[in-house]
Amino acid sequence: METSNFIKLKCKRCNNAQITYGRATLWVKCKKCNKLLLRPQGGKAKLKAFVKNVFK
Ligand SMILES: [Zn+2]
Repeated sequence: METSNFIKLKCKRCNNAQITYGRATLWVKCKKCNKLLLRPQGGKAKLKAFVKNVFK
């Protein structure tokens, strides 16, 4: 799956949705509960949370 654009992640724990860049090189954590939502793996982001929308 291509994740080269902005994506909306939905936290499984607290249901908070936040937008991040699909090719993030930093770990993305939930702004509310600090749960890990996304981590970089081999140059492409590994999704740890639900992707709600992909903006093209
Ligand atoms: Zn959360």
